[in-house]
Amino acid sequence: MKTVYLDNNATTRVAPEVVEEMLPYFSELYGNPSSMHSFGGNLGLKVREARARIANLLGAQPDEILLTSGGTESDATAIHAALAANPHKRHIVTTRVEHPAIKNLFEQYGKNGYRVSFIPVDREGRLDMQTFGDSLTDDTAVVSMMWANNETGVLFPVEDVAAELHDRGILLHTDAVQAVGKVPIDLARTPMDMLSLSGHKLHGPKGIGALVIRKGTKFKPLMVGGHQEQGRRAGTENVPGIIGLGKACELAAGNLADIGTRVQGLRDRLEEALLAAVPQCMINGDRPNRLPNTTSIAFEYVEGEAILLMMNEFGIAASSGSACTSGSLEPSHVLRAMGIPFTAAHGSIRFSLSHYTTAEEIDFVIDKMPPIIERLRQMSPFWKQAVQSG
Ligand code: PLP
Repeated sequence: MKTVYLDNNATTRVAPEVVEEMLPYFSELYGNPSSMHSFGGNLGLKVREARARIANLLGAQPDEILLTSGGTESDATAIHAALAANPHKRHIVTTRVEHPAIKNLFEQYGKNGYRVSFIPVDREGRLDMQTFGDSLTDDTAVVSMMWANNETGVLFPVEDVAAELHDRGILLHTDAVQAVGKVPIDLARTPMDMLSLSGHKLHGPKGIGALVIRKGTKFKPLMVGGHQEQGRRAGTENVPGIIGLGKACELAAGNLADIGTRVQGLRDRLEEALLAAVPQCMINGDRPNRLPNTTSIAFEYVEGEAILLMMNEFGIAASSGSACTSGSLEPSHVLRAMGIPFTAAHGSIRFSLSHYTTAEEIDFVIDKMPPIIERLRQMSPFWKQAVQSG
């Protein structure tokens, strides 16, 4: 059976070029970059090259790149560093729709004595900028605002708030895990303090990521021990992973135009076709202002999990909310924060495309989805009630 993978916001296929470049560093070239001998070739040079490739994708400098184990560690490192650098400030700000890597972290800081503001969003998933502005005080140490939402793809105005926060002496961190490689990012023109990214979301390996720490930002390490990463993150470097991330970033820079045009076109075609063919379905999120590869579609009066199971029978992989929240019966915190009605939030499916997605695959999905929804609705007491009550 052919498979159609439309769950690229959960994780991506590692690009063949990335695998190829990593392989020697598991076998012949397995040295430790901290060793004095030259075994393993010039590992330091390869790690430097990777750092430069990552920096290049983001308009950053190579020495601003801190290599980590992924998005979650980058997020935790950023917030730890921001608070350690500002021990007298006790207020932190984020949004209601962050990934659990930030959401749960901020809840934990809340339990540990920090005052936390979670900024609401509207029905389209747009940030309430009035409440955001009002929440900031002289006591605010850091704002963490995601660049793009993992479930709806909605983009936040991180570049716009950066300058204002900078002038007020409030640090800005952005979780850009879903944005990097999908939309252009140029830190050279944004006074942002820290940015998180993760390898496995952009056709790199799992277990590797980076935190960009702009020059001049005060920093305290989360993990202490050896002197790796100039004392900013202890632990022997994941050399194959770092090389893989570097290659993935180089490829991503070359694929940005494809994502912004062809892939976005496929996403739009999928949306239009399903909106036309399936009654009572809608797009979750601010349609003109989203990641080009992502759509969250609510099929009212059916269960997301049931839809996914039937899609799976046709080899189509997608997600009912974020990978981390699926499996629980609660609708996702993102859709709840947007005020999506219960009957729609429960039947929401996230389709996330990639550079590898083809037109044939999208046509296959367009063909299979309407009968799936129709079949499930025939079994749904909620749908029958809705039809009866007009
Ligand atoms: N932040 C966002 C927005 C994400 O989508 C994810 C992963 O789904 C993460 C952070 C966590 O990244 P990682 O899996 O590399 O820890």
